[in-house]
Amino acid sequence: MTQSFILALDGVVKQFAGSVSPAVNAITLDLAEGEILGLLGPSGCGKTTLLRLIAGFEKPQSGTIVLAEQTVASRRHWVAPERRDVGMVFQDYALFPHLSVAKNVAFGLQNPRRKMPQTQIQSLTEAVIATVGLTGLDQRYPHELSGGQQQRVALARALAPKPALILLDEPLSNLDVQVRLRLRQEIRDVLKSTGTSAVFVTHDQEEALSVCDRIAVLNHGCLEQIDTPEKLYYEPASQFVSEFVTQANGLRAQWHDGGWKTEIGWFAAPPDYQTETPQGIAMILQEGLRINADADSPIVICDRQFLGREYRYRLSTPDGATVYVRSLIHQPLAVGSTVKLSIDPAAVRIFPNHSF
Ligand code: ADP
Ligand code: MG
Repeated sequence: MTQSFILALDGVVKQFAGSVSPAVNAITLDLAEGEILGLLGPSGCGKTTLLRLIAGFEKPQSGTIVLAEQTVASRRHWVAPERRDVGMVFQDYALFPHLSVAKNVAFGLQNPRRKMPQTQIQSLTEAVIATVGLTGLDQRYPHELSGGQQQRVALARALAPKPALILLDEPLSNLDVQVRLRLRQEIRDVLKSTGTSAVFVTHDQEEALSVCDRIAVLNHGCLEQIDTPEKLYYEPASQFVSEFVTQANGLRAQWHDGGWKTEIGWFAAPPDYQTETPQGIAMILQEGLRINADADSPIVICDRQFLGREYRYRLSTPDGATVYVRSLIHQPLAVGSTVKLSIDPAAVRIFPNHSF
């Protein structure tokens, strides 16, 4: 079976003049038609640069970019941004302030190369404004809209010409939390109902997990892992991915008696587990620890947060490590009391540690 890719990057490198390491370092990935691919990573890891390479605002030093079956960047080929079939949505909306909602949305349809009749432009504009839930607001100006409404206009403007691919760069980061959560769902719904392929950039792991079909995790310009949200969460390929995506606890672990010994307890390795490294870092999910009061334990509760569905405890160990536990138990344990922990082996990944 051949899968149809809307976007394929092969070994794409971008190094800015004067910087010591590439902002985008040999990235290879692809995007299936209709898929929402997340680009996730901390600030400065190269997400925006990668989007700009795809859009054509930056030229790679090496590597190939294929978009909708056309090579748009390679050693021999270069397609200018305005000739790439891509729509963009930015963090700061970037609407034309002097144009109405309808005119902002129609903007991309008025391309002289398309030669679309005015009546068709009008009906398409109306339809896409309805898709993003802004019917009735088409004569407003951007300053007469809330941030969430402005971002819907930006999304409509990007969608109107029906591009092969939409690129969204932190589209929700300027919005307050209520709007952000609602728009997160709406963007996903609109992309899915229109069958639009998209690359969705965010530094917020929860946002990436909830919006995207697959997520590429970037670190210092390199691709750490590209996988489904579930795989990233339960089978992180590196300590970095585990920390960034799940905020798992990282504890030193010693191979001992067919399992791993950490300062919060011992847990068995899976039956078929073979170890060659006698020590490593155990990354333990916060919800993979069970907490019980124990007057004789040296582990102390430093803080407790109520999160609605669960409590989040911050604990300190005798060695001075901090451990977070998420617990559904609704009889909360007191700050200052001592506890023992048991570890669910399924919630642990072991990574080699070279710093011992
Ligand atoms: P992100 O979007 O993940 O926060 P960026 O892609 O904006 O990261 O930046 C990646 C790296 O490239 C950073 O170190 C940034 O300082 C650098 N960078 C980005 N744009 C330029 C530029 N035009 N000139 C020089 N360095 C840049
Ligand atoms: Mg950025």
